Amino acid sequence: MFDKILIANRGEIALRVVRAAREMGIATVAVHSTADADAMHVRMADESICIGPPASAQSYLSIPAIISACEITGAQAIHPGYGFLSENANFVQIVQDHDLIFIGPTADHIRTMGDKISAKVAMKELGVPCVPGSEGGVPDLDTAKKIGTEMGYPVIVKATAGGGGKGMKVAQTAADMESAFHTARAEGKSNFGNDEVYIEKYLTTPRHIEIQVFGDGKGNAVHLGERDCSLQRRHQKVFEEAPGPVISPEERRAIGKVCSDAVARINYIGAGTIEFLYEKGEFFFIEMNTRLQVEHPVTEAIFGVDLVREQIRVAAGMDMSFSQDDLVINGHAIEVRINAERLPNFSPCPGRISQYHAPGGLGVRMDSALYDGYSIPPFYDSLIGKLIVHGRDRPEALARLERALAELIVDGVDTTIPLFPALLAEPDIQNGTYNIHWLERWLESNLAE
Ligand code: ADP
Repeated sequence: MFDKILIANRGEIALRVVRAAREMGIATVAVHSTADADAMHVRMADESICIGPPASAQSYLSIPAIISACEITGAQAIHPGYGFLSENANFVQIVQDHDLIFIGPTADHIRTMGDKISAKVAMKELGVPCVPGSEGGVPDLDTAKKIGTEMGYPVIVKATAGGGGKGMKVAQTAADMESAFHTARAEGKSNFGNDEVYIEKYLTTPRHIEIQVFGDGKGNAVHLGERDCSLQRRHQKVFEEAPGPVISPEERRAIGKVCSDAVARINYIGAGTIEFLYEKGEFFFIEMNTRLQVEHPVTEAIFGVDLVREQIRVAAGMDMSFSQDDLVINGHAIEVRINAERLPNFSPCPGRISQYHAPGGLGVRMDSALYDGYSIPPFYDSLIGKLIVHGRDRPEALARLERALAELIVDGVDTTIPLFPALLAEPDIQNGTYNIHWLERWLESNLAE
């Protein structure tokens, strides 16, 4: 096992990794930009090292700075968290070239899954059901129009390199194709430096259901059921739960096995998420994330396992500490994402936290790097915390969420907290009868200026 690991991230996820490492007796190194010198992850780690100025490109994304930080501190492995360098195959290669260990999948797997076209091809070959769509990239508008007509509208044009909800445009009818095609291309180019796009059938009422998988890199893999992340704004998740309110044990077993078999066959190592759209009892693969997800705590809650601990174990060459038969669902968990954003527009709202009080009690977990007097810098993602609740069943989890939200205090900046009590008052949320469009529609009719 490692003596010391470096965490190439910030905020709540850096703290999350520190916690797992500490329980395993592993020392931690935090890296930080000059804007984060007072951040909680810096305070909680055993050592810290400044890697550059505020801009991510010169700090959290600076590969030379991070490799140097490992060499200076003697860290043997790097945990990337999510975002930043977590899905950068080039980084993984450089880490290995420096005789360091990347706590995550191989560069090859990251590369294959990071390109949405090659991911679909690979998954199809592995027997995973995919959304019907173009065979590979679509070179020009004429081809796009032809595919649209053949497949039938609505369709969605997606940037091959897209992520975080960027580079996706829906064409409801043939008349929309020209603008959808050019916009998706332009967004792919400007955000990801790649203007290749492909086309998929646009499903009109699906749920977003994702399967958590975990492999040991030696051909063994398990699945840890699903998370329902259908409540989204601009294709970004806001509220996640596990198990999914509409997935039966038989469906879970079947799709879970398809996914764990697929990753076992490619000797996948570490945590991964296979994302599906689910409509009328059918699953359609959309993409795979080769990292820990923001919403991983709901899975941890219902299975009682620490996914970061497992990531570190398998990266060190150890076996997973559980087998498929050990993984039994206990109760229901919900996570809500708390962003420093001003409603109704969700505009970023950085600033100084005058008061922070985290909720507590049975079945409540608050993953956040906030503290009284902390100043949220304006340079990074607006996620400032995740409130996760666990109950014996869904109604208990919902009641616990309402109770915990009432205890939570974040003063000094605007946050998305007020959204959640309002959502909990909705019968559709109480009953679990929502799909990927529900939240956008609700926001339009309830939060419109
Ligand atoms: P990203 O990598 O940007 O997260 P995804 O491919 O994972 O993009 O899709 C994100 C979300 O976009 C999905 O959860 C879903 O809400 C919507 N979406 C993606 N593909 C389709 C599709 N074919 N039909 C309907 N909605 C889709």
